[in-house]
Amino acid sequence: MERLVSPKTTKEIVNKYGFKFSKSLGQNFLIDENILYKIVDGAEVDKEDIVIEVGPGIGTLTQVLAERAKKVIAIEIDKTLLPILSETLGDQENVEVINEDVLKLDIHKLIEEKCEGKAVKVIANLPYYVTTPIIMKFLEERVPLKNMVVMIQKEVADRMQAEPKTKEYGSLSVAVQYYSEPQIITKVPRSVFIPQPKVESTVIRLRVLQEPRVQVKDEKILFSIVRAAFGKRRKTLLNALSNSPLQVDKEILKKVLENSGIEGNRRGETLTIEEFAKIADTFCESL
Ligand code: SAM
Repeated sequence: MERLVSPKTTKEIVNKYGFKFSKSLGQNFLIDENILYKIVDGAEVDKEDIVIEVGPGIGTLTQVLAERAKKVIAIEIDKTLLPILSETLGDQENVEVINEDVLKLDIHKLIEEKCEGKAVKVIANLPYYVTTPIIMKFLEERVPLKNMVVMIQKEVADRMQAEPKTKEYGSLSVAVQYYSEPQIITKVPRSVFIPQPKVESTVIRLRVLQEPRVQVKDEKILFSIVRAAFGKRRKTLLNALSNSPLQVDKEILKKVLENSGIEGNRRGETLTIEEFAKIADTFCESL
């Protein structure tokens, strides 16, 4: 099968099957070879790798992944793409297409059954409407991952990689950096997709850490504190935490911050993950 990654071949295959792009499923297909190879090279795919691709679309990225990897498991929600995928990937024996919503899949079971129980690489041009839930599912469920290389909305990638004291830094930055080391590979203009999305994109690599960046007594408490601190960005840390779903008396929170060595008049966006962890552990001790 000829390479799909061109406006001409993509339009031909879409027209042949009378395929209608679904905006609500985030269907923007890649038509630029340069970006395609930046994704695949960024993930350093080789013949040892088993790759999970989320949303193969018509199989543009899948074709190249199949050439480079040992095996590709492609999870596609839209069943109208299945006949197209069986044509475009027909001669690739190491590809398996699964017609499912990735958010509803038991990924651990999938890895046990189809990926020899080994750590996988997740590589995808993700649908914009569910980028964060998909990425967080893989990270929070502690799926055995070598790395993730995904194309996502530029603003979301910037937030994932953001450092403290920047306007992009927020609970998503802390959550992603807790589990991984994000690195932006390249920015991507709107013109490399059919149809063109309204937003610009970025290819980002998340190198998953062996252990979370900080060790805490209770992860749930850590993330409740992080969410509370960023929930009211303009308030001081003490005020943000005391007017939050944590529902803890202001005097107790004052003591927690004091015992953590963190001033209550700082704002959440100035705190490092290590500082959030310190507050979370001191908070646990005070319960
Ligand atoms: N990989 C193709 C490419 O690069 O041209 C298509 C990428 S397109 C941005 C996103 C793909 O994800 C679409 O094929 C869409 O149908 C699929 N998709 C959307 N939501 C999904 C979900 N929850 N689970 C699995 N696939 C999904």
